[in-house]
Amino acid sequence: MRVDENVTAGGDSYYAAARKNYPAAVSGRLRTIKWSVLIITLGIYYFLPFIRWDRGPDAPGQAVLIDMAGRKAYFFGIEIWPQEVYYLTGLLVLASIALFLMNAVAGRIWCGYLCPQTVWTDLYFAVERWIEGDRRDRILMDRAPMSAGKLARKAVKHLIWLLIAVGTGGAWVLYFGDAPTIIKDTFTGNAAPIVYIWIGLLTFTTYSLAGFMREQVCLYMCPWPRIQAALTDEWALNVTYRTDRGEPRMSVRTGQRAKAAGAAVGDCIDCKACVQVCPTGVDIREGLQLGCIQCGLCIDACDTVMKKVGREPGLIGYDTDMNIARRAEGKPPIYRIVRPRTVLYAALIVIIGAVMAYALANRAFQGVSVLHDRNPLYVGLSDGGVRNGYTVRLINKRQEARHFALTVSGLPAGFAIEAQGVPSAAGKPVVDVPADTTREVRVLVMVPGGAALPASTPIEFYIVDTDNGEKASASDFFRAPPPN
Ligand code: SF4
Ligand code: SF4
Repeated sequence: MRVDENVTAGGDSYYAAARKNYPAAVSGRLRTIKWSVLIITLGIYYFLPFIRWDRGPDAPGQAVLIDMAGRKAYFFGIEIWPQEVYYLTGLLVLASIALFLMNAVAGRIWCGYLCPQTVWTDLYFAVERWIEGDRRDRILMDRAPMSAGKLARKAVKHLIWLLIAVGTGGAWVLYFGDAPTIIKDTFTGNAAPIVYIWIGLLTFTTYSLAGFMREQVCLYMCPWPRIQAALTDEWALNVTYRTDRGEPRMSVRTGQRAKAAGAAVGDCIDCKACVQVCPTGVDIREGLQLGCIQCGLCIDACDTVMKKVGREPGLIGYDTDMNIARRAEGKPPIYRIVRPRTVLYAALIVIIGAVMAYALANRAFQGVSVLHDRNPLYVGLSDGGVRNGYTVRLINKRQEARHFALTVSGLPAGFAIEAQGVPSAAGKPVVDVPADTTREVRVLVMVPGGAALPASTPIEFYIVDTDNGEKASASDFFRAPPPN
């Protein structure tokens, strides 16, 4: 048999224009969960930059902030410096494993409830329904010739969509500076060009992805459905049509006649309510499909229908491939959420989370880094001694100015250390470092003549807070002429 590679199993061309989808409104417990998730996630996204957090007079007062100029990220009481970017790496690893765990428990639950594409598209659908009406009204309006009323509705819808898109781009830039200042500067035309570029970019992507491309993003652009399909197993819960219960499907009236004649009748009345509410236009009765984002709205639609016709709800529900096979064999369903892969993912989340929490709780609030002069590596002194030069950077992560005594270990007795422009006490330079910043000083270390020095001596630089004794250290070398 010749297979046409340009045609799907359903007979549609892969190159056919996408058919516009008109999902109907639905109510039910999963729809309520989806509304709650939408309100919470969008609420966090739009309003988080406005939460204030007191870090002292010289520090930013925004709770969540990525300070590109200051090269720091703030999250409430946590401040991440560039040297601590591993915390962000850890967060990304945690998020990935959480995604794997969600997938192992309930398939594409991320896609159906939490993915930004789903959340914003849901919001755009809500606006569309509010302005243009439910499914039937929208279909009829799109088929009708253009009129003043149709034009006005379309214009209002697109205007609201655009406002949401601008708000989305606008909220994004608020995470990179003081939110009230950025808003004022943006409206008065005083913001940096990059602010307008980001707002423009995110306005365009939100408006086009949520307003027009919608399910096409899930079908053609997003890699997760493909990765997810490779990671899932037969125990993962997925939105499933109970074929054993639903078939043979037929209308209520046909079913009554068939029953009277003694024929088998399924619970599905073929009303297509499940298909009409689907945001991606999938008929779940045809089995699990790439287009199904597992939002569960078809479950609500079918449960409503079942209630109306006096049949048991749950004809469509979260179930596993394993149970589909078991039911086909007449066996009872079994559920196994706790299994090796879910335990492994959960254990990894706990371990990585605990390591990160421990590292955060015990992080040092001071640091030091050292750079040896490249040229010359050492300088011979008139008394036969040797001098090395270093650039030392002291880091103060506290929200108060601190004084650090600088010293070095690993050298023969009699060595001296001085930092240019820095006073000394008891032979040690004491460096003032302002709050929440770093200070670079040029340091000279001298070893007197007569000391037997190898060409390279490992040494350790120490900084010690003169008030509370907190320490940090960095390793380097002291160079000298090779011994004869
Ligand atoms: S088939 Fe059901 S669960 Fe899948 S996307 Fe459509 S409505 Fe959501
Ligand atoms: S909503 Fe339920 S009864 Fe109606 S077509 Fe879908 S599965 Fe069948």
